[in-house]
Amino acid sequence: MSDTSFQNIALNQQLLSNIESLGYKSMTPIQAESLPAILDGIDVIGQAKTGSGKTAAFGLGILQKLDAKNFNVQSLVLCPTRELAEQVAEDIRTLARTLANIKVAVVCGGIPKKIQTASLANGVHIVIGTPGRVEEHLEQGTLELAQLETLVLDEADRMLDMGFQPSIDAIADYLPKQRQNLLFSATFPESIESIASRLMLKPKHVKIESDHLDSDISQNFYKIQDDSQRLSATRLLLLENRPDSTVIFCNTKKEVKEIAGELRKFGFSVLPLHGDLDQIDRDQALIQFANKSISILVATDVAGRGLDIEALDLVINYHTASDPETHVHRIGRTGRAGNQGLACSLYSDKEVFKIKRLGEHLGFKIEAHKLPDLALLKQPSFKAPMATLQISGGKKNKVRPGDIVGTLTNHPDINGDDIGKIKVAANWSYVAVRRNHVDSALRHLSQEKIKGRKYKIKRIS
Ligand code: ADP
Ligand code: MG
Repeated sequence: MSDTSFQNIALNQQLLSNIESLGYKSMTPIQAESLPAILDGIDVIGQAKTGSGKTAAFGLGILQKLDAKNFNVQSLVLCPTRELAEQVAEDIRTLARTLANIKVAVVCGGIPKKIQTASLANGVHIVIGTPGRVEEHLEQGTLELAQLETLVLDEADRMLDMGFQPSIDAIADYLPKQRQNLLFSATFPESIESIASRLMLKPKHVKIESDHLDSDISQNFYKIQDDSQRLSATRLLLLENRPDSTVIFCNTKKEVKEIAGELRKFGFSVLPLHGDLDQIDRDQALIQFANKSISILVATDVAGRGLDIEALDLVINYHTASDPETHVHRIGRTGRAGNQGLACSLYSDKEVFKIKRLGEHLGFKIEAHKLPDLALLKQPSFKAPMATLQISGGKKNKVRPGDIVGTLTNHPDINGDDIGKIKVAANWSYVAVRRNHVDSALRHLSQEKIKGRKYKIKRIS
């Protein structure tokens, strides 16, 4: 029996036989690392890419300790969207099919509340839902979680991106202090650390490094004549691929500033990221990049280190990385979460020895690609799809994402689809609005009140 056999862990016979009938031969890495701790009742943070089997990791944990005769809600799984909640519910029902009478309810926006209230009143064991709607049911007393055993935050990074942090905190106030907490995420930005420290007790952190290189990243290498050709080669690659989000890696701060300046002159939505920036400038650059108001970041390796972006479309190595590990680290930022990624590396004669070494490290012979046709340079550059408004109020003013959405959608021409990510910081908030609506959004927010108060609004991209 291998180490990763399900037989090695403390699962009951019904679950084991179901796992076998589902054709799961062994645990996936995240399951092997996290399930023993989950079954021990320990708080666990699990980090692994999409498709790695996280649902069964927490699902089996929940089901193993479930008491079917007890009709209190024993587990709550919070997910970022209705689609994901329904998917998780389906997966858990499948895992539970050999257990008697396990009731799973989905509690999300978009489903009539009356139906949910009725099904909750009948008694359910597991509730799976989105934070906003779960919070509403708790406030109205139509959901009771005082007997909860396990709280799961699934795709926690996406929930925080979507502004659900206040809802999650509010929900936690309704839960018994003594409970197990499980948090799953594909990425681990600082915001997760902060929510984990509030909700969890000495969590065990399990991280499965994904091997990006054999999966969904295409690597193209371009031989250039001399340094003067790097900028036009970069523009050609951008114009050919027209990606929503690109990081261009340079070897020095000076080069980062120059290239960002040049690309801006050509009309691209671009910002530099290097060690000389103030914290606020760095934060704002990352916020605008994540919300698609800036489509290109030009970065040094050091400045790019903390970068935790779910899906980069393109990585350009303006110069060959100093060593193969750095190269792998740089390009591992694209092709995440099952997306197709592209990494383009420029090199000149002087860098041929680095390219040879890199090829040996990667295990394939690097061949030069042909750059796109120069005629492409005549095409206009493209802008990022969104633009960011900065609002002079944040958490300290009790501004919440919903308040900003509420005021914005009062405008007859702005609807939910025109609004992107919202970030509420301590003293400031940032909202992404579709570029073609941003000027009306700016005028509107400047004239109207947000939750009864006027704020200064500024367009920053
Ligand atoms: P994640 O939540 O990490 O993105 P999922 O939990 O949705 O991934 O799992 C992805 C797929 O892998 C699902 O179709 C699931 O049924 C399957 N799966 C999960 N665990 C195993 C296993 N141990 N062996 C084989 N397939 C598995
Ligand atoms: Mg999942």
